[in-house]
Amino acid sequence: MNPSALTTAEIRERYLRFFEGKGHLRLPSHSTLAPDPTTLFTVAGMQPFKTQFLGGAPRFPGHEGEHRRVTTAQKCVRVGDIENVGRTRRHLSLFEMMGNFSFGDYFKRDAIHWAWEFLTGSEWMGFDKDRMYVTVYKDDDEAFGIWTEEIGLPADHIHRFDADENFWPADAPAKGPNGPCGPCSEIYYDRGPAYGDDSWDDYYRTRESARFLEVWNLVFPQYDRQDGGVLADLPFKNIDTGMGLERVASVVQDVPDFYSNDVFKPLIDRVAELSGQPYQGESSVSHRVIAEHIRSVAMTIADGVVLSNTGRGYVIRKILRRASRHAYLLGLREPVLYTLVPLVVQAMGGAYPELVSEQERVQAAIKAEEARFLGTLEAGIVRLSSLLEKIERGGTLPGEAAFTLYDTFGFPVDLTKEIAEEHGVSVDELGFDQSLKEQQERARAASKYGKSELFGAVAEVLDEVAAEHGATEFVGYDQLDATGRVLAIVAGGEALTRLPAGSRAQVVLSKTPFYAEGGGEVGDRGLLEWPGGAGRVEDTQKTPQGLFLHEVEVLEGSLEVGTSVRAVVAPDRQATERHHTATHLLHAALRAVLGSGVRQAGSLVAPDRLRFDFTHAAALTPEQLREIELLVNRWVSADFPVTYRYLPIDQARAEGAMALFGEKYGDVVRVVSVEGSVQLGDLEVASKELCGGAHVNRTGEIGAFVIVSEEGLAAGVRRIEALAGEAAVRFVRESLERAQQAASLLNATPAQLPERVAQVQASVKDLNHQISDLKTRLTQAQMGGGAGQEVREIGGFKVAVAQLSGVEAGALRGAADTLLERSAADLAVVVSDSSVVVKASKDAVARGASAGKVVSAMAAAGGGKGGGRPDMAQGGLQDAAKALAALEGAL
Ligand code: ATP
Ligand code: MG
Repeated sequence: MNPSALTTAEIRERYLRFFEGKGHLRLPSHSTLAPDPTTLFTVAGMQPFKTQFLGGAPRFPGHEGEHRRVTTAQKCVRVGDIENVGRTRRHLSLFEMMGNFSFGDYFKRDAIHWAWEFLTGSEWMGFDKDRMYVTVYKDDDEAFGIWTEEIGLPADHIHRFDADENFWPADAPAKGPNGPCGPCSEIYYDRGPAYGDDSWDDYYRTRESARFLEVWNLVFPQYDRQDGGVLADLPFKNIDTGMGLERVASVVQDVPDFYSNDVFKPLIDRVAELSGQPYQGESSVSHRVIAEHIRSVAMTIADGVVLSNTGRGYVIRKILRRASRHAYLLGLREPVLYTLVPLVVQAMGGAYPELVSEQERVQAAIKAEEARFLGTLEAGIVRLSSLLEKIERGGTLPGEAAFTLYDTFGFPVDLTKEIAEEHGVSVDELGFDQSLKEQQERARAASKYGKSELFGAVAEVLDEVAAEHGATEFVGYDQLDATGRVLAIVAGGEALTRLPAGSRAQVVLSKTPFYAEGGGEVGDRGLLEWPGGAGRVEDTQKTPQGLFLHEVEVLEGSLEVGTSVRAVVAPDRQATERHHTATHLLHAALRAVLGSGVRQAGSLVAPDRLRFDFTHAAALTPEQLREIELLVNRWVSADFPVTYRYLPIDQARAEGAMALFGEKYGDVVRVVSVEGSVQLGDLEVASKELCGGAHVNRTGEIGAFVIVSEEGLAAGVRRIEALAGEAAVRFVRESLERAQQAASLLNATPAQLPERVAQVQASVKDLNHQISDLKTRLTQAQMGGGAGQEVREIGGFKVAVAQLSGVEAGALRGAADTLLERSAADLAVVVSDSSVVVKASKDAVARGASAGKVVSAMAAAGGGKGGGRPDMAQGGLQDAAKALAALEGAL
C-alpha cells in the first residue's frame, strides 16, 4: 500500500464533504438491520429512503425543514453468496456504500457530472480519466449522450446493457419487486493488465472481470413499479447512487484486493500472529475468511442481532461458524475471533459509534458462540472418528451419516470430507445432497404463511418469555394509558435485544392497555414512549401463550429489552368501543325483529365502522331495517350502563348470555351486559353476550346508530354494515347533502326527488324514441335523394354504392337492405363517416361474391378493420375515400 495514499476513513469523509459542498444534508447510516421487511439486512444506501423516493416528505429527525439532497455512508450487509465471501476479490459481506440522493431535485445530468468530478478531480480521488468505463441501460440515450458529449468519454468506453444488468433492481420491469426503480449507469475503473488480460469488449460478453472493477452505480429511479410490471412515473424524478467505499479504497491505495488495504491488513496480520501461520496472499483463504467475516458479525451483533436458529440470527451464526471453522483449520483450538473485535472497532468505530458502545456485549456474544461451536466440533470429531473406524480405507461414508452430523451436530460437511480423506475414506456427496433436499422440503411443507407461522417461528423465544414472566397483563378495559416493561422484541423470526429508530418489530410488554385483535374487534393502535425515544404501535395481536405483540415502528431513539415504556392507546379506541357495543345491540335487535333463529356468522369491529354477518333466509325489508335501527337508537338514548362480569360458563349460559356458535370458551367467561331493556311491542329486548372485547361504559356514548347497507353474502347469510357515533352523523349529513344537490339539479326539494326522477326518466325515454325515428327518416331521406349513390360493374357483379353521413352503424344495415332491394344490384355498399356495411344478394353469393372479403379489402386499403359473412359484413374505416377506391379489386 502506498503510505501517502488516503485511508478508507479519509475517502469516506471526502465523499461526504464533496456532496455537502453540492448542497446535500449528511445523515448517519441506518442500522444493518433492514428498515423494511423486504430484506433481512440493509443492502443499499437508498433503502432507508424508500418513502422519500415515493414522494414522502423529505424530513429527517433532528433537521429542520425539508431536504431534497442527502448524502450518507451506509453500512450494508449482503450475504446471498456466503460461500464465495473471501474468495472473490470484489465482494464483502459487510461493506460501506457511499451515496448521494435526490428526492425530486436534481437528476441525471448533475448525478453524472458530480460522480465524474469526484472520481477524476485531482483534489478528490484523482482517477486517471483514460481508465474510466461506464455502462448504461440500452434505451437510456439521455445518459449515453451526457457521458459522450458532456463528459467526453469515448463511445468505445461505454456498453449498453438490458434490464438484467442496467436496471435497479435488476429486471424490475419484468419480475419486480414493486417500488421505486429505474435505469442505471455503472462506473468502472480499469485496474490494468496486471489484473487480467481481458478487454472492455470482452466484458460485454462475459460481464465478469477481474480487471474492470465496478466502483459506482448511478441509479435514476423515475418509476414506481406496480403489480403486473406496470411502470408508473414517479411524481418526481429521483437520484440514488452507491459507491463502494472499499473498492475505491483499493484503487486509491493501489492494492491488489481488499485484504491489503488499511482496514483489512491489521486483521490479516493479527490472524497470522495468533495462528503462527503467515499470510501468503491468494492461497491463504482462511486468513481472509476470518478477517472478512468478523466485520459483519461484529457490526450486526452491535446492531441487535442475537445468534439463533432462525432469520438473521441464523445467517450471522452461520458466518461466525464459518470463520470459526477456518480458525480451527489454522490450528486454533480456543475462542480467538472475539479478540479481533477491537481492531474492527478501531477501523470503523469513528464512523459507526454503536460499535464502540456495544463492544463488550459483541465480544461476549462472539466468544460464547465460538466456545459452543468448538464443543460441537470436538463432539463431531469424536463421533466421526468412531464412524470412520468401521469403514475400510477406500470405502465410503454414507451421505445420510454426513447429513446427521451436519444437521444434529452442526458439523460442517467439508470438514467431514477433510477428516474422512485423512482416513482414506470418501463421502457420498450425492446422498448428502439428497438428505439435505428432503429436509428442506419437509421444512417448506411445514411452513405455511399466516399468523401461526409468525408465532411458530419465534415460538421458542415466546415460550421462554411466557415461562419466565407469565402472560401479558391486560389493563385496557379500564385504562388507555399504562406502563409496562419490554420483555422481548422479535422481528423476521428471531429475537433482538435492541430496535433502532426506523425499524419495525413485534414488541412484547409485561403489561399493556392495548387490546389485541380478537372477537371481531381490531387490535389497538397508539404510541409507546420511553426516556429518549418513542414508537408507533400499528397493530396488536395475541399469541397462544397470552403474550401481547405490539407491532412497533421506532420513531426516535432505540427500544431495548428491559426498558419501561409508557403505552398510550390511540383515541380512536373510543370509536371502536362504540361500534362494539352497537354490534351487541344490533345482534339483539335482529333477533327481536327477525326471530331467534338469527345467528351471528362473523363480525368486524373497527374505529370507522362495524360489519355484522348473520343467518337469515330473505333480504330485509325497509320496514325491518327501520325497526332494527330504531331499537338500537332507543337503547342509545336510554343511556343504560354497560357492565362486565366474569362467570363460570354454565352460570353465564343459565343467565341467557348469548354465546357464539362454534366458538371455544374457557371455564370462566366474560359476560358483557347492557343494564336495561327496550320495548318492541310486548317484547322486552335485552343484550347479554359472552365477549372479551372493549365496550363503552354507557349506551349513551354510542351517540347515534345508522345502518348503511344490507346485502346477501351467501345462501342464507346476510351482511349489515353500520356506523355509530360521529361516523353515523357524518354519513347522514353527507347523504342529505347529496340528496340536496341532486334535488337542486332537478329544481325540486329532496322530498320530491323520486317523483322528479321518474318524470325525467319518462321524458328521456320519449326523446330516445324521437331520435331513433328521426335517424331512420334521415337515412331514408338521404337514400331517397340518390345523392352520393352510384352503381358500378366490378368483377362481373353489379355493385350499388351509397355514401351517407351521420348514420350510425345500426341504421346502416337497414340502409344497405333498402339499397340492395331498390337498385336490384348484386351487392350494396353503404358508407357513413367511418362505418361501412356490405350486403350481397343470395344469387351473388352463389356466384362467388363475398361481402366479408369486400369489407376486408376496404379495411386494408382504408385503414381499419372488419369482416363478416359472405352475405353481410361490416367494419370501421379511417379513410372512406381510399376504402371506396379499393372496391375495384375487391371482387
Ligand atoms: P457487482 O456487480 O460488482 O456485484 P452490484 O452491481 O451488485 O456489484 P450495486 O448494487 O450497484 O452493486 O451497489 C453499488 C456499489 O456498491 C457497487 O458499484 C460496488 O462498488 C459496491 N458493492 C456492491 N456489492 C458489494 C460487495 N458485496 N462488496 C463490496 N462492495 C460492493
Ligand atoms: Mg452493478
